[in-house]
Amino acid sequence: MRRTKIVATIGPASDDDNVIKELLAAGVDVLRLSFAHGDIASCIERLRRIRKLAPSIAIMVDIPGPKIRAGSFGSLPVVLNVGDELALQEGFDETSTAAQIFVERKGILKHLSIGDKIHIGDGGVSLDIIKAGLPATAVVSSGGSVMGKPGLSLPSSILHDRLPTDDDRDRLEALRSEEFEILATSFVRSAFDVVSVRSVLSREDIMIMAKIETAEGVENLDEIVGVADAIMVARGDLGVRMPIEDIPHLQKEIVRQGIRYARPVVVATQMLESMTHSQVPTRAEVTDVANAIFDGASAVMLSAETAIGDDPVGVVETMDRIIRRAEESFPYKDWGSSLGVQEIASHAPPATRVTAAITGAAWRAAMDEDAAAIVACTRSGMTARAISRFRPPMPILAITPFEKTARQLHSSWGVTDVVISDATSMDDLVDVAIARLRTTNVAKSGDTIVVMAGSNDSGAAATDTVRMVIIP
Ligand code: PEP
Repeated sequence: MRRTKIVATIGPASDDDNVIKELLAAGVDVLRLSFAHGDIASCIERLRRIRKLAPSIAIMVDIPGPKIRAGSFGSLPVVLNVGDELALQEGFDETSTAAQIFVERKGILKHLSIGDKIHIGDGGVSLDIIKAGLPATAVVSSGGSVMGKPGLSLPSSILHDRLPTDDDRDRLEALRSEEFEILATSFVRSAFDVVSVRSVLSREDIMIMAKIETAEGVENLDEIVGVADAIMVARGDLGVRMPIEDIPHLQKEIVRQGIRYARPVVVATQMLESMTHSQVPTRAEVTDVANAIFDGASAVMLSAETAIGDDPVGVVETMDRIIRRAEESFPYKDWGSSLGVQEIASHAPPATRVTAAITGAAWRAAMDEDAAAIVACTRSGMTARAISRFRPPMPILAITPFEKTARQLHSSWGVTDVVISDATSMDDLVDVAIARLRTTNVAKSGDTIVVMAGSNDSGAAATDTVRMVIIP
């Protein structure tokens, strides 16, 4: 069993029904649909088609926030050489060239000053402004090639958007009646951004994943983790807004803080980037994926590799192999004790403290007794996520009455799920769990399992029961 989950981004290279089926067979747990490209109607059409094709997969919809894009450079690489001068113009659906780049955002260019830096795409190419005005003039300070409609990172001092942006508001309204599991929200800078997006979407059953990709997002990490349901280390934008050498350290900090609060944390971007056009990854990429596993990532994400790459299925197979190997060397024994869950819970509301205490006790009992499995009886998925953060070596089986919860748990480390709608008591649930663990050869007679469940008895949902069962 692979514990760390795989998120794959769907794009032109993987949009075909057969490719999607092959991606699922290769082990993808969550499909990510970016709503940054195309109009809302075509994005919704794609979402509905994929939902129908893969009813039990988790779908993550990613809204772009204040991401600014350049007018298309076309499908062939356009080279920008160091020292080249070019004009920056405002314009929509215009073609950018090496001499003139169109910026698809009204009224932003006039705020640029001489000396400001603009990064194109995920940071390879950058420009320095040498003449302000309309058009502005820039000189290429770091060269490279660009194609398609790359994102432009402008200095954050001139971006004042609050979330959701007007465009995202339209997307959220269109998404309100759609069937998906996770809403990834770009450029979250504060807890207020998360709360605002959640209130505009108005859907209790959707997990909000905060993408950490700005200095403000890092600075306000604790409050964001406190209100978001899940976190993404969005290394592409983060790497152009923070010193690039800080990225490995920020990744560790964000992953750890997310896990302490029992949030699934996705590590994203350029994980196997060279495989977009190559059959084998670089040694550095393989090491990067393995290190994300050692950092404790709940899931690792493929972007261009599966969206526009030559062999989306081959990339997933490669990622699956790297994860399985890394998990053989994961420090399961020490992970949970060094998390400091009790320490963060000590300032939390009573229900959170109870959940921390019971899941901590369940984890310790499972380790001491070398349990064959941990069973989480869960309605919202909270109990399964709360035990998953301890990264136990034994499988975690989530039993839930809701298909939606089961799909959302596809983003949680180490969790497999079973949906059961007709259990009336904890004994029923234990019977179902034992039957499932037997048929999947996870446990046999004489093995011990640890079973957890929650209640709303104190007014807020808490995991408040743990039982150890010796399988008869
Ligand atoms: C990123 O910036 O790393 C990211 C995941 O966001 P997007 O792919 O939407 O640019």
